[in-house]
Amino acid sequence: MSNYQHILVAVDFSKEFNSVLAKALELQKLYAARLTLIHVVEYTGAMYTGEIPLPEDLDLDQRLAKQAETKLQEMIDEQKLSNAGYQVEIGTPKREIVRVAEEQKADLIVLGSHGRHGLQLLLGSTANGVLHLAGCDVLAVRVES
Ligand code: AMP
Repeated sequence: MSNYQHILVAVDFSKEFNSVLAKALELQKLYAARLTLIHVVEYTGAMYTGEIPLPEDLDLDQRLAKQAETKLQEMIDEQKLSNAGYQVEIGTPKREIVRVAEEQKADLIVLGSHGRHGLQLLLGSTANGVLHLAGCDVLAVRVES
């Protein structure tokens, strides 16, 4: 197995996420790797496909991003994570996770097999998309559905 140096952990704040984080922390210790937590605020404008013009709440995504930053910092403090940072992006989770992994030269992405998008699927849509798009190793931690 590779000697991973930088692990990117995709955080969706679901209650199932604790087991994903626990696995990522095991690997971080094993490889003395750097850890980056990433959360992607799904672009709210992208959910709407109707004809009526959307009210311009450009601020909403920014406010959600600020809240996510606070929660990720709390996660780092609570878990007393060393050699760890976080990043929050706005967009499509699978694309942003893969883009940031490339930008940050992460060599392993850790995410849950399922989260809020995919309980009825074999693999959740984010895990499936990241597996297809990523240029580095991907660990999809089994989350019971
Ligand atoms: P899902 O596609 O909702 O089944 O989620 C599968 C896994 O993808 C989750 O356990 C997370 O690790 C990751 N994930 C899903 N949505 C996000 C998000 N908005 N930001 C970061 N990671 C996410």
